[in-house]
Amino acid sequence: MTSVDFPKHKKAKALKPGSRRPAKELCSECGLCDTYYVHYVKSACAFINQQFEELETQSHGRDRNLDNPDELYFGVHQEMMAARKTEPIPGAQWTGIVSTIAIEMLNRGLVEGVVCVQNTKEDRFQPMPVIARTSEEILAARVNKPTLSPNLSVLEEIEKSGMKRLLVIGVGCQIQALRAVEKQLGLEKLYVLGTPCVDNVTRAGLQKFLDTTSRSPETVVYYEFMQDFRVHFKHEDGSTETVPFFGLKTNQLKDVFAPSCMSCFDYVNSLADLVVGYMGAPFGWQWIVVRNDTGKEMLSLVQEQIQTQPVFAKGDRKQAVQQSIPAYDKGVTLPMWAAKLMGVVIEKIGPKGLEYARFSIDSHFTRNYLYVKRNYAKKLEAHVPEFAKRIVGQYKLPD
Ligand code: FAD
Ligand code: SF4
Repeated sequence: MTSVDFPKHKKAKALKPGSRRPAKELCSECGLCDTYYVHYVKSACAFINQQFEELETQSHGRDRNLDNPDELYFGVHQEMMAARKTEPIPGAQWTGIVSTIAIEMLNRGLVEGVVCVQNTKEDRFQPMPVIARTSEEILAARVNKPTLSPNLSVLEEIEKSGMKRLLVIGVGCQIQALRAVEKQLGLEKLYVLGTPCVDNVTRAGLQKFLDTTSRSPETVVYYEFMQDFRVHFKHEDGSTETVPFFGLKTNQLKDVFAPSCMSCFDYVNSLADLVVGYMGAPFGWQWIVVRNDTGKEMLSLVQEQIQTQPVFAKGDRKQAVQQSIPAYDKGVTLPMWAAKLMGVVIEKIGPKGLEYARFSIDSHFTRNYLYVKRNYAKKLEAHVPEFAKRIVGQYKLPD
């Protein structure tokens, strides 16, 4: 490489840990600014420059068809399905499809490394991004670290290592910034395995959530907001605790979610090749969205290890979403007996499958639209993508 084509970003300096980031309080700590790729932050940061259409076209060959109801909600895709591993990985968030795909890709030589996030020795919920080079290192990253995680902080290391084929596992804001700098990474092939993500928190915010919601915050090893309208906590002794969504102390928890997550419209990780979540699948199953041919290739590696079934939709979410908008806004918290009763009723008659996923997307997009409108009015028009405007436009919102 001559001095003429020496990439300009290498001259940039990573920002100091703890210093204010260009996205200010909206920063999701994705890690880009911890590297010399900070050079691209103004165009790459998901909270400074919303560019779904361009990046969808770059990643999938086209942007989403807004007139197709499934693409409007779930983004560009070739197919969706429900799946679960026939032999789940113990300690994985669900059945471990994400870790299994990553291990297969590494073992079959498709990639030389996998960007994923382990936890520190001292704290099971403190994220520690790594480039895994063995199956053991990938397995050590299984289970969600339900906190903002600087996954892209390893980007400089990738370039220095000389790796040419890489898998990155990450959530929407990390993947938006990654796609924006993809061409600068010097890779021959980048694979992106995404998970949906919503309502993430700082490590301190997580503690507040656990302290206000669980009976034993210090023994929680895992939690998930599940399709049965309950939060499921797993404890160190293997016991499970469930708390109905409607019993959450909304008034105390209103400020717990990170401002980045309150202004995010990429719940479904639109730019990943393959997305593995749960919310469009029946209880106990994972939800798979294959966005392009690369995603298809990745899923095919684990076909023998999973059972699948078609996705379905049941119920009608719209009334429940409309009613929840003012309730959330006013921080209404039901007494636990009423919350439990409501949980039982809504589980019986409430939305299921893809309709549950749409319920969750509608509830979060309307809340987030109001948040941006009230706190960042000048950003509203450019920051909210067209698909989100259409989704939010179905509901009557307070001022
Ligand atoms: P595992 O095999 O256990 O692997 C989990 C992978 O997640 C690991 O490779 C690890 O590197 C990665 N990871 C862990 N924490 C983070 C983090 N903070 N940032 C980036 N990557 C991380 N799915 C839904 O359908 N709806 C949701 O609302 C939803 N919210 C989520 C919120 C967060 C913060 C995260 C991380 C995931 C969320 N998911 C959601 C995805 C879901 O919880 C599972 O992660 C997914 O189904 C994969 O399960 P698994 O058993 O295959 O994963
Ligand atoms: Fe930088 Fe990422 Fe924060 Fe944006 S979200 S300011 S790119 S660290």
